[in-house]
Amino acid sequence: MPATIQGLYAREIIDSRGVPTIECSLWLDNGAIVATSVPTGTSVGKYEAHELRDNDSERMNGKGVLKAVEFINTTIAQSVIGKDPTQQFELDQLLVDLDGTSDKSKIGSNSILAVSQAILKAGALSINVPLYYYIQQKYQLTAQLAMPSCIYTMINGGSHGADNLDIQEFELIPASHIDYETSLNIAVTLYHKIEEVLTLKGAIHSTGIVGGFTPNLYSNTDVFEILVETIKASPYTFAQDVFFGIDVAASELYTGGKYALKDRSEPYTAKEMITYYKKLRDLYHVFYIEDPFQEDDIGSWQDITRELGETTKIVGDSFLVTNKDKTAQAITDQSCNAVLVKPNQTGTISETVEVIRLAREANWQVIISHRSGETNDDFIADFAVGVGADYTKFGPPARGERVAKYNRMLQIHQEILHNQGTSTKESTALTPEEVEAAQAVETKQTEKAEQTTMTASDDATSTDSEAFSQDKITPPSTPAEVTPSVELPPIPDAPLAPSKQGETT
Ligand code: PEP
Ligand code: CA
Repeated sequence: MPATIQGLYAREIIDSRGVPTIECSLWLDNGAIVATSVPTGTSVGKYEAHELRDNDSERMNGKGVLKAVEFINTTIAQSVIGKDPTQQFELDQLLVDLDGTSDKSKIGSNSILAVSQAILKAGALSINVPLYYYIQQKYQLTAQLAMPSCIYTMINGGSHGADNLDIQEFELIPASHIDYETSLNIAVTLYHKIEEVLTLKGAIHSTGIVGGFTPNLYSNTDVFEILVETIKASPYTFAQDVFFGIDVAASELYTGGKYALKDRSEPYTAKEMITYYKKLRDLYHVFYIEDPFQEDDIGSWQDITRELGETTKIVGDSFLVTNKDKTAQAITDQSCNAVLVKPNQTGTISETVEVIRLAREANWQVIISHRSGETNDDFIADFAVGVGADYTKFGPPARGERVAKYNRMLQIHQEILHNQGTSTKESTALTPEEVEAAQAVETKQTEKAEQTTMTASDDATSTDSEAFSQDKITPPSTPAEVTPSVELPPIPDAPLAPSKQGETT
């Protein structure tokens, strides 16, 4: 007899920014109980599903979620009680139907996701397997459990910063063959080194809403000079051990049909932005560019994918809003080549999985992301491993709500190592983008500044950073023998393979 849902209870809590969000507890008739909470964003895409808020200016600055909580405790609870929590697809469909709108504006994507996540957690608990394993077996999006690579946000601007820089995130990305513990070690080492370098340079800095540094620099490109200097002062080698990425969040820079950056007084046209990105690519080997253009500027998305997509991940976040139709359209249009996945942009786990499946079929890369307003729930760590994501983006390796995810990944890493003997992806080579970036660094060392310097007439202020180390590419590390902190429960004989409706049988 499968366990069934016996009760559901939601409450209003606050997220890491001091903004209300929802926590939901769900219990089964066998006494098992799960709790989960949902994140919320700051740079919210205009096509994201609708978060229901009270708009009552008398409390929580109008951002209360008591109406959404009430929906869970009444309408939704009545509908799901007595149901089998492993029937995720059927229950998610029920939530979508209860809402009945195309953007989930009746009961809210926040109330829907809180319940959808709780059901997924309860499904795993009902058969006593770890959540990441349950997700892998249920959705079969990856044949082997492996740790995703990590994108660490180190420096923040835009709406995550302090009115300092325009680009929202400057990221460090350890090479994809590096195992998770080493990757986290690199991130922690460099996070603290960046602060030292900023202090040495007298750059006024604090931290932004996700914990990245918010230095007051002259231009956006200056950040890369800081990052290069940091890596040179560390045991690591740029473009071999660690690479760069950016989240431009370009909708936030879009004004009067152009993009405003402090790198020059005149805003940039879309064409000029592509030239700007090319220079970042050539000078600093930035191989990950998220939301380079505003969400409706589709022609520019196609242009950049055509011109840079061979060597660079062009990633749709606010552009695709984890939406199946938008993802399918972008695949047809060839307007990007990777998707950033945030379950709360769409509302249910089943819809999120559908987007990942589409991306996989198109050979796109998949990045599972936090939101700027997070909670201590580590759900997305299990989710990222379970769906076989290529990358995670959980912020810097600091702040409780971010490290909750990184620390959960440490547990998962050790469990996978213990059970499989390896937790790294099958390929131990650098990815094509990484190889390209590494080769570009070598080439640059034999060429001179003429080709690479961003001159004043090119509207940039940085100096050339050609003096990167020439060390050989380090071989992939062999995973060490570890003892897991948690013993895995026995794995069921029959896999939870999806049936026609994407459900367990
Ligand atoms: C992002 O833009 O990728 C992000 C995490 O920010 P937010 O949650 O504010 O959308
Ligand atoms: Ca983004």
